[in-house]
Amino acid sequence: MQALRWHGVKDLRLETIEEPSALEGKVKIKVEWCGICGSDLHEYVAGPIFIPQNTEHPLTGEKAPVVMGHEFSGQIVEVGAGVTKLKVGDRVVVEPIYACGKCEACKQGKYNLCDDMGFLGLAGGGGGFSEYVSADEHMVHKIPDSLSYEQGALVEPSAVALHAVRSSQFKVGDKAAVFGAGPIGLLVIEALKASGASEIYVVELSEERKQKAAELGAIVIDPKQFDAVEEIRNRSEGGVSVAFEVTGVPVVLKQAIDTTKLGGQIMIVSIFEKEAAIHPNQIVLKERNMAGIIGYRDVFPSVISLMDQGYFPADKLVTKKIKLNEVVEQGFEALLKEKNQVKILVSPQQ
Ligand SMILES: [Zn+2]
Ligand SMILES: [Zn+2]
Repeated sequence: MQALRWHGVKDLRLETIEEPSALEGKVKIKVEWCGICGSDLHEYVAGPIFIPQNTEHPLTGEKAPVVMGHEFSGQIVEVGAGVTKLKVGDRVVVEPIYACGKCEACKQGKYNLCDDMGFLGLAGGGGGFSEYVSADEHMVHKIPDSLSYEQGALVEPSAVALHAVRSSQFKVGDKAAVFGAGPIGLLVIEALKASGASEIYVVELSEERKQKAAELGAIVIDPKQFDAVEEIRNRSEGGVSVAFEVTGVPVVLKQAIDTTKLGGQIMIVSIFEKEAAIHPNQIVLKERNMAGIIGYRDVFPSVISLMDQGYFPADKLVTKKIKLNEVVEQGFEALLKEKNQVKILVSPQQ
């Protein structure tokens, strides 16, 4: 079968590899749609980050070249021995986290914080940028017939957004701010809507992304036009309850803190490449607090239900659909060059 494998920075190759089969405890999935994620892009331009390059990943036993793609939907075409909850024909999405099950985090049920955590589609075990994937039964979630496969491909990134809001101190009726309206920032807007936000402020520079955020119902603040902090503090009458940092830009963290009211929270959703300087008094003098999240845990079923109610809409967030043989030029390169792209979906089927 055809698969896109990461060999190195700017070196993604479409190759013919052996089709996986459903071994014991696994199901074989025919991939319908797979989204290109921000972390895939990072691996492409500045990797390896999550991809094991020189030594095998402890849980998959694999290293580069690995098949990429961890945001995918598809249909089960084969089930292995011992599989009880899934059957051939089921429409599914994969929760692509490998965890050891033995470390302290795993013992606490916080499998996304596992010492050896790895992603299917980055750490080995196949990936969604190929025609078929074989995955452990416990990583697979069914989606209802009412959800399209395109919508299913958005479950994984939406889970990050929902986990961020659920892990924060946000309460129904609260006001919130989102810094950065890239794909995850836009999904955080949806997670906040689903959580009953009364006002959602979004700070974003790009014209296209501002438009998308407004389309989703957010109050858009352009930092070129206004002092974003002052504008949000004024309009929200004293600041928001929670500010979500989704840019990874050091100077933005400072602004995010200052937009929160007393006792407010800054929730960091992005991965930072550099240190970000803040004055501790920003936290201390208003008894604010700061927290962060990585990935998600135990939220896929909730995301799927919320999608069934119309949240995280694929028709507004998917900006391009392409075939696997176009994935580098029309997918990865397009995301680097075209700011109006939100989510690009790839179909590995011929
Ligand atoms: Zn992702
Ligand atoms: Zn573990």
